[in-house]
Amino acid sequence: MEVFKDIIPLKNYLKSHRFKGKSIGLVPTMGALHEGHISLVENAREDNDITVCSIYVNPTQFNNKNDLKAYPRNLEKDLSMLEEKGCDVVFVPSDDIMYAEKSAMTISFGSLEHVMEGKFRPGHFNGVGIVVSKLLNIVQPDKAYFGQKDLQQYLIIKRLVNELMFPVEIKQVNIVREADGLAKSSRNLRLSKEDRQKSVVLYRALLKVKEELEKGKNVDEARAQAATMFNVNGVQLEYLEIVDTTNLRTVENVSKEKDVAVCVAAMVGDIRLIDNIIFRVNA
Ligand code: AMP
Repeated sequence: MEVFKDIIPLKNYLKSHRFKGKSIGLVPTMGALHEGHISLVENAREDNDITVCSIYVNPTQFNNKNDLKAYPRNLEKDLSMLEEKGCDVVFVPSDDIMYAEKSAMTISFGSLEHVMEGKFRPGHFNGVGIVVSKLLNIVQPDKAYFGQKDLQQYLIIKRLVNELMFPVEIKQVNIVREADGLAKSSRNLRLSKEDRQKSVVLYRALLKVKEELEKGKNVDEARAQAATMFNVNGVQLEYLEIVDTTNLRTVENVSKEKDVAVCVAAMVGDIRLIDNIIFRVNA
């Protein structure tokens, strides 16, 4: 496994492989890797000759300085996990490398960035858009892999790539969960033992919405029913939305013909967690 900190040597390495006709898959991450990230790496390995994983905690996507400071970092463990899983290349740039230009450029994603994560984390998707654009331009992958866990991020990146015509295919990978249903997340490492137990409420609330919709309840009733599971025990709901999977607009009715996504964000103690499920109601 090759590890690069600088852009030029990475580009040269990839160029020589591209020249030999090898396909390249990119998995962008912020490190503190878990099975969710590894699933992206496995998908990339299946589809491509060379898998590149980037590990970079991107400061411009954090709207909260303490969250950035406290974000878990464990490069040695990350590298050994990646090596064991057969990743070919790891890109681990510093802030000086990624933001040499000290740019204050902004990208706007219209209605997609004003709901859910965008509403609660102002500026977040601008930072994501900038850093993913940089990574795509540096690595020039054939395919890039993103988790359904960050559904809004996936849609933002699809839009970025379509509108700016990046020559890359964006792939979505299913959510990997703990045995009790909690979506795997680097942030789970920061939960106290008690909060870890409480955090399963996010997934349970998503399933509750699904159950209520399948019983024939309307979206407002289903949402209100599941929302009662929060704001007790130190778990504060930020949002619980039933949305169209393509544009994240709130749906008024569910139908057999269309997928819906139920998306949730909540503070468990002082750790912010998100999750979602996508399904079609059969009722
Ligand atoms: P992060 O390191 O949190 O920025 O995540 C890097 C990538 O891994 C993103 O595309 C995430 O959506 C994806 N990811 C994070 N957690 C999971 C999970 N539990 N299952 C699948 N993909 C995930």
